[in-house]
Amino acid sequence: MKVNSAEFIISAVRPNQYPEDGLPEIALAGRSNVGKSSMTNRLISRKNLARTSATPGKTQHLNYYMINESMYFVDFPGYGYAKVSKSQREAWGKMIEKYLLERETLRMVVLVIDLRHPPSKDDVIMYEWLKYYERDVCIVATKADKIPRSKWDKHVKIVKHGLSFVPEDDFVLFSSETGLGKDELWSVIERYAFA
Ligand code: GDP
Repeated sequence: MKVNSAEFIISAVRPNQYPEDGLPEIALAGRSNVGKSSMTNRLISRKNLARTSATPGKTQHLNYYMINESMYFVDFPGYGYAKVSKSQREAWGKMIEKYLLERETLRMVVLVIDLRHPPSKDDVIMYEWLKYYERDVCIVATKADKIPRSKWDKHVKIVKHGLSFVPEDDFVLFSSETGLGKDELWSVIERYAFA
């Protein structure tokens, strides 16, 4: 998809701040530092729309970006950040849970994981959660440029196994460095957003 406009709309802390225009939403989830902002910037061909390295304090903000005036990217706060307090973690969980449960305009969740390593415990819980709430997911395995191509298959297997990946979901190999997977991910997003 050619991105003509990508605009930051709001950092929402309460559901009554979420947009009410009914446009389709694609959520972006992943643990802190996994490469989620880099992926987002690569997708929309911007250098720095999505701020790199999420601030750990902002655990309760859903950042809305409007793309081509036709859909939203909803950026979840990064999870798994060690320094976040128990109460912040709980607040994060409540907000995300409510959003997953109630948000009717949510069409699909992009879950970003690191292709180099087996999924973390938090990654596994996040995917389990998304499946529990019957959400469609596209796993984006990023940083593919950091391992040799000959090892990609092996890593994909480890990631899928670790997550108990459901074959109905999508899986895209990605690199924010080289642009690998960008077109494939866009076609998955468009399929869900504009179905
Ligand atoms: P976020 O916290 O999930 O938003 O992570 P960032 O996008 O800020 O990325 C964390 C670090 O990983 C940064 O130093 C990025 O430059 C680096 N990074 C992210 N994606 C890639 C990738 O696909 N390839 C490589 N080589 N580095 C990446």
